[in-house]
Amino acid sequence: MDAGNKLLEGLDPEQRAAVVAPRGPVCVLAGAGTGKTRTITRRIAHLVHRGHVAPGQVLAVTFTARAAGEMRTRLRALGAHGVQARTFHAAALRQLRYFWPRVVDDEPWQLVEHKLRLVGQAAHRVGASTEAESLRDLASEIEWSKASLVTPEDYPAVAARAHRDTPGPPEQVAQVYATYEQLKMRSRVLDFDDLLLHTAAALEEHPDVAGEFRDRYRCFVVDEYQDVTPLQQRVLDAWLGNRDDLTVVGDANQTIYSFAGATPRWLLDFSRRFPEATTVRLERDYRSTPQVVSLANRVIGAARGRPAGARLRLVGQRPPGPEPEFAEYDDEPAEAAAVALRIRKLLDEGVPASEIAVLFRVNAQSEVYEQALAEQDIPYQVRGGERFFARPEVRQAMQALRVAAGAPGEGALDARVRAVLEPLGLTERPPAGGATRERWESLRALVELAEELATALPEADLARFAQELDMRAEAQHPPTVEGVTLASLHAAKGLEWDAVFLVGLVEGTLPIQHADGDDEAVEEERRLLYVGVTRAREFLSLTWALSRSPGGRRHRRRSRFLYGLVPDNHPAALPARGRGRDGAASRASLRDEARRRCRNCGGPLVGTMAVKLGRCADCPSDVDEELLARLRAWRTERARQLKVPAYVV
Ligand code: ATP
Ligand code: MG
Repeated sequence: MDAGNKLLEGLDPEQRAAVVAPRGPVCVLAGAGTGKTRTITRRIAHLVHRGHVAPGQVLAVTFTARAAGEMRTRLRALGAHGVQARTFHAAALRQLRYFWPRVVDDEPWQLVEHKLRLVGQAAHRVGASTEAESLRDLASEIEWSKASLVTPEDYPAVAARAHRDTPGPPEQVAQVYATYEQLKMRSRVLDFDDLLLHTAAALEEHPDVAGEFRDRYRCFVVDEYQDVTPLQQRVLDAWLGNRDDLTVVGDANQTIYSFAGATPRWLLDFSRRFPEATTVRLERDYRSTPQVVSLANRVIGAARGRPAGARLRLVGQRPPGPEPEFAEYDDEPAEAAAVALRIRKLLDEGVPASEIAVLFRVNAQSEVYEQALAEQDIPYQVRGGERFFARPEVRQAMQALRVAAGAPGEGALDARVRAVLEPLGLTERPPAGGATRERWESLRALVELAEELATALPEADLARFAQELDMRAEAQHPPTVEGVTLASLHAAKGLEWDAVFLVGLVEGTLPIQHADGDDEAVEEERRLLYVGVTRAREFLSLTWALSRSPGGRRHRRRSRFLYGLVPDNHPAALPARGRGRDGAASRASLRDEARRRCRNCGGPLVGTMAVKLGRCADCPSDVDEELLARLRAWRTERARQLKVPAYVV
């Protein structure tokens, strides 16, 4: 079989149709795990193999550096070397470097290092609050505005029209935004959004630059197109000019960045914009077991106001696997300890650590899991390798390595790298959890990279290693940090693991507190859960804890998205709230059912007193806090001794 046909192996008929479609607009609109990324990678390789396009003429964009790295690896494996696969920002940065002297300035400008400080200066000048939290809110509002192509002048009107929850009076936010832009210009620095703005402007306003660029890049591919922002779309349009050689793939149910200006409207409107486009829909899910697929369908099936293009149902293709596991815990450390124990069991069963992920809503949730994993001596990596080279410890290490490379030295490359990194925190044994452990993991990854280089290139010295690191940093190609991945749901997009733990599924965290009361924001939180569920190939665990710390008030409630997901015979089961829709349960019977359940944890209410209070014996009430606290402490301790979830005791 010739290599071209080989590229069509392991594709279903719809995927194949998208792969072999002639150059021109192609849109793949499909659910999670249906092979969208596989399809575009094969399409690029196929176009290159057939000689329809040269590898250097293809520009593929994805949303994370990690996804871009994976795409490059997959393309190389398919024989398509030299295709550019980058994030929008990395692609723009590269192009700008080239055009910069012609379109802006003779001197290169640096990327802004301390953005919040600059926002702080701007806020101070216009008399806005300079508290840390306000500055963070202002910075993200400015990011949203830039990504949405809203200028400071337009901001107040747009914010009012969009009913935005503005971080201060809209006129004042606009002033901070305008001042921030001026300060940035004056100090000749750029933020991330400027990279895209300048790229678009260079192509729109300089026909010679546009001509040169369009001569070079002729074929464009966008993964995760449901999360494109108006600014990114403007860059894409500037890249295209009046051409239409564009392949996009996406899943409107996975739009999870609309808080940052992203919108699925271009994905859903693609065939209107390009009526001659080849449009393909995929429904077969190749990633997950039918059990996981069924749960994913239920999560997204409950979504409200889905546009027609988003109403896809996944059909699982893989053999059956274990049922998803649900468990409720008294407190977060107990939840984390149980998750770590479960991970230990999976590792003992032979699941590699790199095939396991713990996913959470906000990064602050990471720490308790870091500690629990460290206690079990389980290796882990935080943030999924994102922006590895931007981590302070890595920058510091690279600087130290550069200095050491200039000095004479003896010995093997990895031992020498170790010697440079030891004073920076590279101890023999890993420290316990937290930031020191994360720092240690980064340094260890650098040592492993040195070992790798020494094997491939025995004569490599420190200078060569420092050079290798610079090259990788430039290409945003981080080393593999082996271990269990701890990542936010946002960072997990597009990725997959054999085993996935979705943790902290409580109200206020998922959905996040500030989404409450805003229907659209709550729907985005539901999509986040859908993204999380669909990352799992085989094993999926969903957990939550009723209080933050041991012995604390159990005031938390499990996430509303869990209603109807927990199996009826499960100890943590709750009545299915949404059943009324298809008439299976009447409102009255649901209300009756709800009356017999604890308002706090959903557990059954036993006894008239409990029904009256709406609280079960396990949950706090005004009756006897002290007794209940003792009971809870006993239960947590007993569960820990027996190594079982608290609800079993
Ligand atoms: P997401 O929406 O999460 O980004 P996706 O649609 O991009 O998912 P891929 O990552 O391309 O999905 O594919 C999911 C998994 O299914 C991958 O492991 C991929 O190798 C596998 N896969 C895709 N298509 C097929 C196929 N036709 N036969 C067997 N396996 C497949
Ligand atoms: Mg994908």
